[in-house]
Amino acid sequence: MTGVGRLAPTPSGALHLGNALAFAAAWLSARQQGLHLVLRVEDVDATRARDSLTDGIRQDLGWLGLTVDAEVPPQSARTYDAAIAALADRAYRCTCSRAMWAVHGRYPGTCRDAGHPAGALRLRLDPGPVSFADAVHGPCAIDAFTRFGDPVLVRRDGVVAYPLAVVADDIADSVTEVVRGADLLEHTAVQLALYDALDAPAPRWVHAPMLVDAQGRKLGKSHGSTAVAALRDAGWSAGDVWAWVLPHLGIPGVRALPDALGAFDTTRLPRGPIPVREPDATR
Ligand code: GLU
Ligand code: ZN
Repeated sequence: MTGVGRLAPTPSGALHLGNALAFAAAWLSARQQGLHLVLRVEDVDATRARDSLTDGIRQDLGWLGLTVDAEVPPQSARTYDAAIAALADRAYRCTCSRAMWAVHGRYPGTCRDAGHPAGALRLRLDPGPVSFADAVHGPCAIDAFTRFGDPVLVRRDGVVAYPLAVVADDIADSVTEVVRGADLLEHTAVQLALYDALDAPAPRWVHAPMLVDAQGRKLGKSHGSTAVAALRDAGWSAGDVWAWVLPHLGIPGVRALPDALGAFDTTRLPRGPIPVREPDATR
């Protein structure tokens, strides 16, 4: 088996240039290796995800030539009961409000031995560094408990939390390579604890550089000008978008993804973050 790659957009906002960069890296890596590439909509948090945004993201992906081999069920159509049951003996209930632990910068494990009958469900992490190799960042060792604290698996309101959803989905979808933004590099340690607890093999990790604005903020967090759809409306072609994005992956002068296949190399991606001036969609 050659393996499976995925594009996993969260429909909490329109597709922006930072997403385009990460998806280009995922697409190029998958196509180079002949992976089966799937699209999975990460709408586990229905309060943030909106159907109209999902349709817009599908349209943008198609327009950019980010083709996939299949779309697998979105998170909103899945159940996570089996994964939750498998983690039950390592999980505990937490009744703390964020304000109660935010001063620590991470959740310090307050409720570990409290035996609460209800509340958010958290996973008890083992202390100590989690080691993994990232194709871009090389060997990494991150102590997930010290850095983040025990992660929430199921929120107090019953919504499955992102770390559990993404790991359960990647296992269910037989994903062998995860290519995404470097904002999730450290969080990989939490996800690896979940793979371990679920007794599943971890994928290959590729953390693509983040595009940031002059203040160091991730693109898409600041304002709407980098939305791919806004650029399209302003007269940009898909080739214009790739001519802007791909140099940040070390591939200048290319206006279509297939033309970047020869030059793309996950192991030689910049680590970033890469400061950029957001293009003006009103030009
Ligand atoms: N859906 C997540 C995001 O858009 C990415 C999750 C992942 O790639 O693991 O940030
Ligand atoms: Zn607690």
